[in-house]
Amino acid sequence: MVNFLIFGPPGSGKGTQSVMLAEKFNLLHLSTGDMLRAEIAAGTELGKKMSTIMSKGELVPDEVVIEMIAHKIDGSKAYAGFLFDGFPRTVAQTAELEKMLNDRGMKIDCMLALDVEHDELVKRLIGRAELSGRPDDKDPAVIENRIDVYNEKTLPIINYCNERGLYLPVNGMGTIEDIFGRLVEAMSKII
Ligand code: ADP
Repeated sequence: MVNFLIFGPPGSGKGTQSVMLAEKFNLLHLSTGDMLRAEIAAGTELGKKMSTIMSKGELVPDEVVIEMIAHKIDGSKAYAGFLFDGFPRTVAQTAELEKMLNDRGMKIDCMLALDVEHDELVKRLIGRAELSGRPDDKDPAVIENRIDVYNEKTLPIINYCNERGLYLPVNGMGTIEDIFGRLVEAMSKII
């Protein structure tokens, strides 16, 4: 199995690119954001609790997403590997993911980090709000908070991965096809 993290700020295109990359390389796409939204849509107790946190643009507790991921990574032998999208989002989640994979004879093989300028992120998220109906995309103050939370809690993962030789920056500006092409080229060297 070859396991990738797709990494970047909110609005960097992780979700869009992940769906296309998962199909191209036969990877299991695991998005904690999608899993959390599915809990909310199903009206579960967990979903109700998490929706308050998500609507403010804060991170849900590490244990919640770690448990969700742990459930998914067993019994997925049909795939060439995993593509983790929006997870890990803290250094603690990263260390836990490494441990989960190591315990199963796997590892994180590469972190693909999308670089996108701040103004472009805000523009994309506001544009997406109209299509997705996501409450956390509608309010500019929540968007700014998500970017602040990313800079404070998520960005340190770059150092963590860089120290382990896993960090691979990818230019996330341009069209969806341009960015897809760059990611495919980077991943083809690893798979
Ligand atoms: P985006 O990349 O646009 O921020 P996501 O769908 O990845 O969107 O995440 C939406 C929200 O779900 C986040 O703002 C956060 O509240 C919550 N969330 C998703 N993944 C995680 C995670 N790994 N750890 C903590 N919170 C998470």
